[in-house]
Parts: sequence; C-alpha cells; structure tokens
Amino acid sequence: MESGLKKYGLTLRHFPQSFEHSTLGGWIATRSGGHFATLYTHIDDLVENISMVSPNGKMNSLRVPGSGAGPSPDRFMIGSEGSMGIITDAWVKLQKKPKFKATAGYLYSDFLSAAQAVKSISQAGLYPANVRIVDDVELKINSASKGSNTLMIVSFENADHNIDPWISRAEECCLDHGGIIDVDWRNNPLSNQQGTVGAWREAFIKMPYNREQLTPRNIISDTFETSITWEKFDNFYHNVKISTELAIKEITGKSGAVSCRFSHSYPNGPAPYFAFHANSTEETMLEDWVQIKRSASDAVHKYGGTITHHHAIGRDHSHWYKKQRPDDFGKILYNAKEYLDPKFIMNPGVIVD
Ligand SMILES: Cc1cc2nc3c(=O)[nH]c(=O)nc-3n(C[C@H](O)[C@H](O)[C@H](O)COP(=O)(O)OP(=O)(O)OC[C@H]3O[C@@H](n4cnc5c(N)ncnc54)[C@H](O)[C@@H]3O)c2cc1C
Repeated sequence: MESGLKKYGLTLRHFPQSFEHSTLGGWIATRSGGHFATLYTHIDDLVENISMVSPNGKMNSLRVPGSGAGPSPDRFMIGSEGSMGIITDAWVKLQKKPKFKATAGYLYSDFLSAAQAVKSISQAGLYPANVRIVDDVELKINSASKGSNTLMIVSFENADHNIDPWISRAEECCLDHGGIIDVDWRNNPLSNQQGTVGAWREAFIKMPYNREQLTPRNIISDTFETSITWEKFDNFYHNVKISTELAIKEITGKSGAVSCRFSHSYPNGPAPYFAFHANSTEETMLEDWVQIKRSASDAVHKYGGTITHHHAIGRDHSHWYKKQRPDDFGKILYNAKEYLDPKFIMNPGVIVD
C-alpha cells in the first residue's frame, strides 16, 4: 500500500513496528498504534469509513470527515479483533509525504526527569513526530549505550513548512529538565543515525528478531505496554517495574531485567512500554512466562493502567480487559455478537465469549 502511494507523494503515515508483516484490515481490527508518537497515533484517527462482513450480513459506515451522529459505527468495528466480522474495505486519510525532517537526542541522568521533559513537550502543543524516552536498561541490553543515562529522541517532520521553530522550542523543554545534547539537529540531516539515537534506532529495528536467538537459549524475552495519566505515572512506573522484577526472581529463582521506554505520549499522559528478560529452563519456560506475564498484567491493572495501549486483547489480555471494561459494556458487546454472529463462529473466545 505504501509503495503504491509513494508515486503520488502520499502516505497513510501509520507504521506499527509489525508493519512489514501486518495488514490494513489487521490494524483496524486490532486498533493498532503507529510509530509516530503524538497526535495521530492510533489507526482510529486515520479511518474515514469501514465495511465489515459478519455472518448476519454486511455493514458500511457513512464516509464523512467528521460526525456527531450518535455512537460511532466505526468505533464499534475498530478493535473488534475479528469477533464481530471481517473488515473487508476501508477509506483512510492520507497525507503528503514529509519534506522537512529533524531529529535530536538528549541524555538524562534518570528516567523520571526525562519523563518530565516529555510531559512539557506534550503539553506545549508541539506534537513532534516522535518523542521517546528509553531507559538505561533497554539501552544496555541492546548495546546502544554503556552508561546509566536515559535517552530522549525528539523528531519533527512536515510536508509544508520548516520545523526549526518547533524543534528549537522542544529543545528548550528538554534542557529545562536536565537534558544534555547527545545528537544536535542543526544542519544535520543524518542526526537520526548518529550517537546513542542512531545506536538505539539500529537496535529497535532488530529487536523483534532477537527473540529467535534468545528463546532457544532458555531466555524469556517479552514486552507489555500500557498508558497512564501523568498524575499517576511516577507511582505506576515504580510499582509495575518492581512487581515484575520481584515476580521474575520469585518464579525463576534468579534476577532478571525489566526496562521501560515511552512508545507514545499525549498531553494527559504517556504510554510506557516495558520489556522483561528472565533466565529459565526448557522444561519450565512456558509456565514461567505465563506466571511473569500474569504478575505484570495484575500490576498494570492494579495501579490504574490499561491492559494494552496498542498490542490488542486477543486471548493473553482477555482476563484484564474484562476487568477494566464496564460490565454493562461487556453485556452490550455480547448482545451485538449474538445478533451479528448467532453461532459464535467469529474468533471465538476473543473480546466476547
Ligand atoms: C514484533 C511485533 C511488533 C508489534 N508492534 C506493534 C506496534 O508497533 N503497534 C501495534 O499496534 N501493534 C504491534 N504489534 C501487534 C500486531 O502486529 C498489530 O496490532 C497488527 O495491527 C496486527 O495486524 P495483522 O494484519 O498482523 O493481524 P493478525 O495478527 O493477522 O490478526 C490480529 C487479529 O485481528 C484479526 N483480524 C486480522 N485481520 C482482520 C480483518 N480484516 N477483519 C477482522 N479481523 C481481522 C485476527 O482475527 C486476529 O484476531 C506487534 C506485534 C509484533 C509481533
């Protein structure tokens, strides 16, 4: 799709990390989040209308730029994960490919100061294409840094106008909170390939494939992601990290590693993305993973986060999804499924059972 759009100078500008193996229908069905970290992050923001085929027939939503006409049929179909029907067609909102681009990197002595810088950028109305922070644990595990600093990456891009004033203002926010320049954006079109920024970017592209090497060596390596409002963030971050570290120690008998980055950020809160790594054995690996995942998910739920910001529900997150959604909403979904899919043949056990 993107290569077809390229010749017209257009893009959907939605790039989940799973981009190369995923589909537009899958993005809509799982309510995916793209690589761009602010403003239009979820596919929800990019969909104009949807057609869905269920055992009961076909449903099309009205294609308009915006509507205040009651509950949205699109919002009902987006995130339904195949439980209500198959998404067969969608109109989506395209943009011109960006011409102006700039990336900067800053280092912080601790994760929470970097988080404060993200908060001030997110609340300044700047909407960078990217504003990520990556903690020292993730940087070290991926050989992107040997030190104990947190990395902040800030990028802006635009098809229409020069973005220097925006990145200059974002830099002020970064420096106000103790950031030290890692990579300077000024007159530097290759800044995203340099310094700690470049080293982490290289590692990020390879990360999903590392598991292929780690699993045969009996190393559990997985991620979970969420979002939380700013006023709860500090407490949430400490408790989720500590709960997961303790769970790894208790379950495997050995200390593991838990890292955190922000994948997305909103004016009212960040989307923290945790990774955990634990030594296990061939015999116990699956059960160890189940228990660590359960402890981490319990902590995310207990301290107020959503069970997923963009990885979707499926079967792994179903237990906590049912706890966080209102009971009546669950009943409404059940009745909708009964109408659309009376024999419950569409993705049984997902979203509704
Ligand atoms: C390494 C890795 C990185 C990832 N990174 C991201 C990320 O950055 N952002 C993100 O949001 N997610 C990410 N994901 C999760 C997932 O890949 C995405 O959510 C993606 O949108 C799924 O799309 P797909 O086409 O691969 O769907 P599939 O994985 O094939 O299906 C996912 C679910 O959607 C249903 N489904 C698929 N197509 C349709 C359709 N046309 N109609 C109805 N139901 C359908 C399936 O039945 C299934 O329940 C990642 C996953 C992996 C493994």
